[in-house]
Amino acid sequence: MKRTVVITGSTSGIGLGIARAFAAEGANVVINGFGDAAEIEKARKSLEAHGGKALYHGGDMTKPAEIADLIATAEKTFGGVDVLVNNAGIQHVSPVEDFPIEKWDQIIAINLTSSFHTVRAVVPGMKAKKKGRIINIASAHGLVASPYKSAYVAAKHGILGLTKSVALEVAEFGITINAICPGYVLTPLVEKQIPDTAKARGITEEQVKTEVMLRLQATKEFVSIDEVAQTAIFLASEAARQITGTSISIDGGWTAQ
Ligand code: NAD
Repeated sequence: MKRTVVITGSTSGIGLGIARAFAAEGANVVINGFGDAAEIEKARKSLEAHGGKALYHGGDMTKPAEIADLIATAEKTFGGVDVLVNNAGIQHVSPVEDFPIEKWDQIIAINLTSSFHTVRAVVPGMKAKKKGRIINIASAHGLVASPYKSAYVAAKHGILGLTKSVALEVAEFGITINAICPGYVLTPLVEKQIPDTAKARGITEEQVKTEVMLRLQATKEFVSIDEVAQTAIFLASEAARQITGTSISIDGGWTAQ
C-alpha cells in the first residue's frame, strides 16, 4: 500500500525537496504552494517518475477553508493521509517598531496557524488508522532568536509548542509529531532576505552570508535541502516510532553555542 504524503508550501525550496524524497520512495504526494503554473505542473509531473501519483492543490495557507480542502482532497483522492509535512513559511526582516502589522499577521498565519488547521484536519483519519506521522519544519529560530525577525521567531517557537502538545494527545494512536529545526538553507526564502538584512544592519550582501547567516553555523556551510528531506524520511519511518514531541536540529552546530 502506497503512503500518501501531504507537504504544504512545496512548490519551491525545502518543501519541493521533501516531496521529491518521498516521491523517490514511490509515495503519492500532494504538493501545495504558489508559483508559475507551468513550472508547478512540470514539478508535479516529475514527482510521478517513481510510480506514485502527484497532485497539486493551490490552497492558501492563510485561509482555513482552503487548508481544510487541501486535506479533504488528499483524503478523498488517496484514501487518507499517512504523512503530513507542515512546511509552508515566509519571512520578513524588520525592526519590531517598523514591523508591518499585516506582515506579522501573515507570518503567524502561514508559519504557525496553518499547522493547527492541517493537524486538526488529519488527526481524525490518522487516529482511525492508528498510524500517522506529522513533521513540522520549524527552524533554528524555533530554539534561539535573531534580531529583526520577531514574527518568524515567535511563530517558530510556537510551532515547537504545538508539536509537544499534540504529541501528548496522539501518542497512544500510533501517531508521532516532531519538528525539524534547520539552520540556513540557500532557498528562495533565504535569498530574498539577504538584501533586507543588509539594509537593516548596514552591511553588504556578502557580509550577510558570512557574518550573519554562517557566523553561528560552526561548519561554516549552508545546510542542504536534501539533508532536511532525508531527516523527514527518517522521522516518517518505522525506526522513528518512539520519537515524538521533540525537535531535531540540522544547523551545523548553531544552537550548540
Ligand atoms: P521557499 O520560499 O523556497 O518556499 C516556501 C514555500 O511556501 C513555497 O512553495 C511557497 O509557494 C509556499 N507558500 C508561501 N506562502 C504560502 C501560502 N500562503 N500558502 C501556501 N503556500 C505558501 O522557502 P524555504 O526556505 O524552502 O522554506 C520552507 C520552510 O523551511 C519554511 O517554513 C521556513 O521557515 C523553513 N526554514 C527555512 C530555512 C532556510 O534557511 N531556507 C531554515 C529554517 C527553516
